[in-house]
Amino acid sequence: MTTELLGERLAPSGDLPAGHAPERILGLRCRACGRAEPLGPSYVCASCFGPLEVAYDLEVVGAILSRSVIGARPAGIWRYLELLPVDAQPARGLPVGSSPLVPAARLGAAIGIDHLLIKDDSRNPTLSFKDRAVAIAVAKALDFGMEALACASTGNLAGATAAAAAVAGLPAYVFVPADLEPAKIDHALAYGATVVPIQGTYDDVNRLCLEIADERGWGFVNINLRPFYAEGSKTLAFEIAEALGWRLPDVIVAPIASGAMFTRIARGFEELVTVGLVERTPVRFVGAQAAGCGPVATAFVNGSDDIEPVRRPDTIVRSLAIGNPADGRQAVELARASGGSVEAIADEATAEAIRRAARLEGIYPETAGGVTIAAAEAARRSGVIRPGDEVVALVTGNGLKTPDAFRHGLEQRAAEPGVPGLAPAIPASYRAFEAWLDR
Ligand SMILES: *Cc1c(COP(=O)(O)O)cnc(C)c1O
Repeated sequence: MTTELLGERLAPSGDLPAGHAPERILGLRCRACGRAEPLGPSYVCASCFGPLEVAYDLEVVGAILSRSVIGARPAGIWRYLELLPVDAQPARGLPVGSSPLVPAARLGAAIGIDHLLIKDDSRNPTLSFKDRAVAIAVAKALDFGMEALACASTGNLAGATAAAAAVAGLPAYVFVPADLEPAKIDHALAYGATVVPIQGTYDDVNRLCLEIADERGWGFVNINLRPFYAEGSKTLAFEIAEALGWRLPDVIVAPIASGAMFTRIARGFEELVTVGLVERTPVRFVGAQAAGCGPVATAFVNGSDDIEPVRRPDTIVRSLAIGNPADGRQAVELARASGGSVEAIADEATAEAIRRAARLEGIYPETAGGVTIAAAEAARRSGVIRPGDEVVALVTGNGLKTPDAFRHGLEQRAAEPGVPGLAPAIPASYRAFEAWLDR
């Protein structure tokens, strides 16, 4: 039934087999103890409290899905529908995904990387990669008949949830740390969300939201819908492999907040190998965190699997400021097992990386992108990234979301003779302009 629906919606050429097909989505499964549960709005294992994940029958998927089936479909995340936990593309939704993989030779040369590609995921409807995760979570919230959408946000999730709720016609409640950048609060308000600033850190916000989710039954995209939310990040892996001509890169450099995106990119590659869409080749995973909130980077350096929570994050990289990351342990294991690393980046280096990406490639990242580019440079210096490696670095948000960050650590931004920068206001005459230029 599932595939018939798919066939109608996505492959009118009749690529998909008709008639009854075995189920490709098996349900939910506990990552810790393996216990199976039916697909529903639950996120922790009823017996061991481990995190639940979506389980697929990849043999069934492999029989349906091919490069040509995918290639014939419209752009966007739904071209990989069989590897996502929904029966069919939702009737309404924002156009998410298919962001460009941009060769970045000038930036690569500046940081010593021979083949640098930027996955520019700032080009999503609300200017961050969070639109991917939210699209899947909202599709499931609608399946489950939930009456409101909500989230605990470090910033970008606020706008993504609010916009998706607007399109779905559901109310949105967005919980954020009270010191969040005003641009991100306004972004969510603009889409009609109710924004609730909480006096505390992101981890305080998250704890409160766990309680609200239990009491109210709202669809918190990153809490009770988390198993589905996390699946959205796999589409980054699918798009990268497809853009490379159905191949995997040597290195992925990606930011870590909760660690969901970082670990699900690896899962996405794994699934592509299992269903026969790409050949298995080794990929090193380099994670990027801010030094002022780098619990996963600390565990990596200490050779530990235990994540020591950071109580008071202190960094300009607010979008990654999760002190107690849900997928932190998995993230450090992935970095280590793949021969990668997790880098802790000082705010000055993050700001410098933002300026470099903008000035050398015309790509203006938010702080999470700056951290990532600086982490690529650090991994190259330490030898984790080697000469000749093909490196894909993820820019996951647009710089207009963190408008002051690029200036961090700069004395001033006024133009000096021969140096670009902000000119003083001058009268509207050519004479005045010339006098300033030749000063
Ligand atoms: C949320 C976010 C991430 C990563 O989030 P995870 O919780 O690790 O999945 C990366 N970049 C940006 C800009 C984000 O907003």
